[in-house]
Amino acid sequence: HVDVMTALVSFDRVFEVLDLKPLVRDREDARELDEARAPDGDGAGPALSKAPSVEFDHVRFAYPSADEVSLASLESIARTDTAPGREVLHDVDFTAAPGQLVALVGPSGAGKSTITHLVSRLYDVSSGAVRIGGVDVRDVTLESLRAEIGVVSQDAHLFHDSIRENMRYARPDASDEEILAALEAAHIGGLVEEMAEGLDTVVGDRGYRLSGGEKQRLAIARLLLKAPSVVVLDEATAHLDSESEAAVQRALRTALAGRTSLVIAHRLSTIREADQILVIDGGRVAERGRHEELLLEGGLYAELYRTQFSHQRDQGPERRRAEPL
Ligand code: ADP
Ligand code: MG
Repeated sequence: HVDVMTALVSFDRVFEVLDLKPLVRDREDARELDEARAPDGDGAGPALSKAPSVEFDHVRFAYPSADEVSLASLESIARTDTAPGREVLHDVDFTAAPGQLVALVGPSGAGKSTITHLVSRLYDVSSGAVRIGGVDVRDVTLESLRAEIGVVSQDAHLFHDSIRENMRYARPDASDEEILAALEAAHIGGLVEEMAEGLDTVVGDRGYRLSGGEKQRLAIARLLLKAPSVVVLDEATAHLDSESEAAVQRALRTALAGRTSLVIAHRLSTIREADQILVIDGGRVAERGRHEELLLEGGLYAELYRTQFSHQRDQGPERRRAEPL
């Protein structure tokens, strides 16, 4: 059991494995990300003590065709909605400054998920560059790159295993104390304490059934345990009751503090807090700015706001900023 887990963990995240293996590889002379970053003074130090910038420099991208992908990436082969080689990102250009929260919004199929895939280099760009802390992601080892990036997808991937082991997928050597601290910070520590088996409690369909909000907070706790300097998050769309919603929101605020984050945002509260909103449409950045600015422009964002976000309970930015982390 332990061997299997170690093998999985060494690929960083189980659910990325299929996509990663065949498409991108380390260059012969690839360096570690933190080594490569040291000379430019952007957070120099062995553990990337400071959050780095994330930069898309005139990025164009087409998903690889089936023969390029060969046997491995079944997803691409199965997709028929995009002709292989058709460009899906056209000249995407933006910079998330160190510690910034950048929200990606836009219609389905616009290219938001594709943008987030390129940050952890699941694919290579067709032209332009993606840089982290000023370093082209193609110049560093995949392992060191992905060690700095925490990915949380829409539905939390939990394994039918104990809470302890689910947490250790993020960091195999984590102690119980560290795991409990992360659970506490994600506002789910209380629930685990109440469980008779504590960290040994098995979760999943055949174990303890966590609610949607609890699963999301466990995923956030995992992220906190990994403590990456960059976070890529696809916010869950699932409707939560307002109490869970508030708990998830608090947990997220803790998780994103001090990290550079790219969030595919579905919550008005996240969008309002974003330092920068990028409205993605047809593979381009159609509009950019903060919430109020974009509303005033009266363009695509204003329309998205009317159709998708305005019905959400809006507490307003002042009240949220006043809440403690
Ligand atoms: P969004 O996240 O904004 O809904 P995506 O980034 O998922 O948009 O998709 C952007 C475009 O790329 C769409 O046309 C989609 O069909 C296409 N696409 C997404 N994933 C793949 C893939 N693995 N292979 C081929 N085309 C894809
Ligand atoms: Mg998507």
